[in-house]
Amino acid sequence: MHSMILDTDPRSPPSDMAPFDAGLTWRNSFAALGDDFFTHLPAQPLPQPYWVGCSQQVGHLLGLPANWHDAQAWLEVLSGNRSLAGTQSLASVYSGHQFGQWAGQLGDGRALLLGETAGAMELQLKGAGPTPYSRMGDGRAVLRSSIREFLASEAMHGLGMATSRALSVVGSDAPIRRETIETAAVVARVAPSFLRFGHFEHFSYAEQLPQLKALADYVIERFYPDCATDDQFSGNAYANLLNRVSERTAHMVAQWQSVGFCHGVMNTDNMSLLGLTIDYGPFQFMDAFVPGHICNHSDHQGRYAYNKQPNVAYWNLFCLGQALLPLIEEQALALAALESYKSEFPTRLEQLMGAKLGLVDAHIQPPGHDRVLVEDLLKLLAQDRVDYTIFWRRLSHGARTGYGDQENPLARVQDLFLDRAAVQAWLQRYTERTQDLPQAQRSDLMLQTNPKFVLRNHLGEQAIRKARHKDFSEVHTLQMLLETPFAEHPGYEAYADFPPDWASSIEISCSS
Ligand code: AMP
Ligand code: MG
Repeated sequence: MHSMILDTDPRSPPSDMAPFDAGLTWRNSFAALGDDFFTHLPAQPLPQPYWVGCSQQVGHLLGLPANWHDAQAWLEVLSGNRSLAGTQSLASVYSGHQFGQWAGQLGDGRALLLGETAGAMELQLKGAGPTPYSRMGDGRAVLRSSIREFLASEAMHGLGMATSRALSVVGSDAPIRRETIETAAVVARVAPSFLRFGHFEHFSYAEQLPQLKALADYVIERFYPDCATDDQFSGNAYANLLNRVSERTAHMVAQWQSVGFCHGVMNTDNMSLLGLTIDYGPFQFMDAFVPGHICNHSDHQGRYAYNKQPNVAYWNLFCLGQALLPLIEEQALALAALESYKSEFPTRLEQLMGAKLGLVDAHIQPPGHDRVLVEDLLKLLAQDRVDYTIFWRRLSHGARTGYGDQENPLARVQDLFLDRAAVQAWLQRYTERTQDLPQAQRSDLMLQTNPKFVLRNHLGEQAIRKARHKDFSEVHTLQMLLETPFAEHPGYEAYADFPPDWASSIEISCSS
């Protein structure tokens, strides 16, 4: 957190507008846990808000009518200027390990949970003003990071990744001080829950065992009901919970690795108990494949580098295990519950990489069969710093015609490499491995697995630069492409091209 409250910030009082009755039934089941877990408070009004982006899909998910964003009332609600009838907003408390160190109490310093729809989706505002957990922060988020979170949420969903969603971004001309003066924005984000590993760590470190148990029972009842009855781990519900969270985290991180996504700040307070990608900050979809790539310019040690993500996730799960230990009671059970990460992650990653290669269904071989083929490919990609997304897309197109056909521009996978002989040898092995598979069908499947469009840093940056001049057209174009990133979208080739030279000079830090 690198933000200070602006001296000139008008600490506007909470709005006196009547709550908006959106015609939906809102509740907040988390609130039943009691006030050790959160503080009820309204959002801080945002002066003269305007829409920057909205998601129809997410509106639909919440059960909103098709034209919901035409209603001024929704702009008021999603900027924090008006409350929702039937629910009381709240900020929750959590703690966590940041960059490997115990950071003590954190909490929703700028997020407010508005409530939960009948479909059990929670709606949260990020950047809605200070809360009791803001510490030195202003409770706000800037336009740049809000656009990135909005687009990334929907891009990850489009790719089939486990993620929180984003309903909208609203902007305002209200000044916000970071390294320079920027403007404020609020993201409305949506997930079944925003609970983090850090929520458990908070009560465990404070030795508040009744609260720890109440939280675990809440999470089990609401999200992992099987854990209460499962007879694995001697029927210990909390060990079962740890096991299930480990599994889901393994799946999530395997998805990240397969698509070349770096989260950037895998602190335990940014790790979802539901195995969802949350808290998009200095994330990046890799351009060139560089295993040690560090996307967060505040991460000087490279703790959260791309190739460290799988181990860091386990480290974080270990923290969760420690936090749950007073409930699990036996250390051996906790360790056994964590084991699922170690088996699930490689298995899942192998499946995903196999799918990228077009090895599906009947063509799947016993575990480990294609590991060397994949590892050798990744070495070649790293050696020549090949563009990760473009490589897979060209490989997918090439599957239709074979890789020797120089007439076919889409078959020019070799063009991406300096070491032609090495890649040709690999393609030869790959062709042999896949020779029994129908080419056209495999190519079609690969084109549904290997995206054409990802939210590259420079694309986000271009959208942000225009948005600063109140031109949101690039936000909308990117959203449209990223919602269906496997489609060809004729006419938008430039968005699927190599990054320009200036892309490597974009610095994204924790400041947001
Ligand atoms: P993050 O690095 O964004 O995950 O944030 C880490 C912690 O700092 C969380 O408790 C956030 O709520 C808090 N935080 C980050 N930025 C701000 C801000 N501008 N104002 C208040 N709290 C913040
Ligand atoms: Mg966070």
